[in-house]
Parts: sequence; structure tokens; C-alpha cells
Amino acid sequence: MTTALSRQRCWTHPRREAVSRCPSCAKFYCRECVTEHDGRLLCVQCLAAGTRPLAGPAGTRWGRLAALALLGLLVSFVVFYTSGYVLQQLPPAWTRGVESE
Ligand SMILES: [Zn+2]
Ligand SMILES: [Zn+2]
Repeated sequence: MTTALSRQRCWTHPRREAVSRCPSCAKFYCRECVTEHDGRLLCVQCLAAGTRPLAGPAGTRWGRLAALALLGLLVSFVVFYTSGYVLQQLPPAWTRGVESE
């Protein structure tokens, strides 16, 4: 493994020897070009591509989903409350007539 790796050169620095291989893009890089992330040595390009989309739109999407769920809960509460109120205001004779038949 060491002999195969020592023949490899850094993808961005052709004059430098590669010390590790990025597991994401399978390219060889020198020590300066890789960064440890979640126990893996990723290159700068893969690190930027892998972390940026997760932090941005995903967070706002979950926030919007939570707001929608809260709005749905509020609407259903209002609907149930008003329907219960309307049922209470109905004349007792009307409900009794339906039950006897
Ligand atoms: Zn990479
Ligand atoms: Zn390099």
C-alpha cells in the first residue's frame, strides 16, 4: 500500500507526494489538501461540496415543515372547536328526533 501510494502525486500539487486518497472522489492528495471530517480524510473540494448543501437548504426546509405542521394543528383546533360549539347550539329536539327514528 505504501509503495503504491508513494508513486502517486497530489492532484493539485503535482510536485508533491500523495499521503492519502480521498474516499469520495478517489483522487490522491498531499497532507495539506485533505482535512479530517467524521473520521475520514476528505479533500477540500469534497468537503466543501458535502457540507455546504446540508447546512443551508435542509435547515430552512425543516423550519418551513415545522411551521406548516403548527399551522395545520391550529387550523384543525379551530375547526374542531367551532364545530363543537355549533353542535352545542343545536336545538335538543332536533338531535332527539334523529335518535328516536
Ligand atoms: Zn475528494
Ligand atoms: Zn496538495
